[in-house]
Amino acid sequence: MIIKYRNKPAKIAGYEALLKRLPAHHTKRGLIQEKLNGARAGIGGEERLDQLLESFDPSYPYLLLQDVELPGKCQIDLLVITPSQIVLLEVKNMAGRLRFTENPSALHQLTPAGETKGYKSPVVQIETAEMKVAKLLKLIDYPLRIQSAIVVAYPSQIVESVPLGTKVWSADEVLLQLNRLQMAAPSISIDQMKMLGDHFLSIQEHYNPFPLAPKFNISLEEIESGVFCPRCLLKKMDRLVRKWECKSCYLLSSDAHFEALDEWFMLYKPTITTAECQEFLDLPDRDAAKRLLKRMGLEERGGRRHRQYVKLMKN
Ligand SMILES: [Zn+2]
Repeated sequence: MIIKYRNKPAKIAGYEALLKRLPAHHTKRGLIQEKLNGARAGIGGEERLDQLLESFDPSYPYLLLQDVELPGKCQIDLLVITPSQIVLLEVKNMAGRLRFTENPSALHQLTPAGETKGYKSPVVQIETAEMKVAKLLKLIDYPLRIQSAIVVAYPSQIVESVPLGTKVWSADEVLLQLNRLQMAAPSISIDQMKMLGDHFLSIQEHYNPFPLAPKFNISLEEIESGVFCPRCLLKKMDRLVRKWECKSCYLLSSDAHFEALDEWFMLYKPTITTAECQEFLDLPDRDAAKRLLKRMGLEERGGRRHRQYVKLMKN
């Protein structure tokens, strides 16, 4: 049974927003596009694993948690709970040749374009996750064994020099490998399994990647303001009475500013004032900004003169 489903990473929406609002010639576009491609490939690999696991039907009871974020920045692509052990899977979706190196540990990717790129070692990542999960289990006195594997999402990824003792599975063999798991005598009951799943969900720590612009050293002035048309995407909309109009495709919208304000929160900061809103949405006056903000369902903080509107992140 799946007790936690995967969310599309917020970062993808953030990178998309950043690219949408950066001028075409901006020097950081390449870097952001690369980050966006990596994030999209990552979620693509994880979704492929999810699809393959739809026919998971092992002989033992199990719970699946997709994309959990445990305390201590411990993100796990797939966590499997069984009565005798926990399995952690880290999914990699990177095209080309992947070579593991040791001393120091890293992952080198030779891209199909012939470029070599270095990444943090997924071996270190997954072993650190094992250690952190072991610590969490000890705290609640759950005597479960933990094992882990790195999953390569597509057969076109060629993997070399896998360190001894590290399991690297292709996504296609994950079902088989999980089905084959040696089940020792159960250490916990089904009820305890459920309690453990609930416990992991209750202690999740959501890593907030926002705001993104400061992370790339991009200032407010470098980014285009305004409300973009949701249909033709590129053109900015004009504010009429109670609605927005695209001069290019003539779309009328009453809520196109929702997306723009979301982008503000993803890119700049979790708060906005009426003055900032007026400038960012290219509104004619402060009152128009105030009316829009009031209807956004944001939390209001501060007195009348220093009021800030805050977007609260949902878990
Ligand atoms: Zn349009």
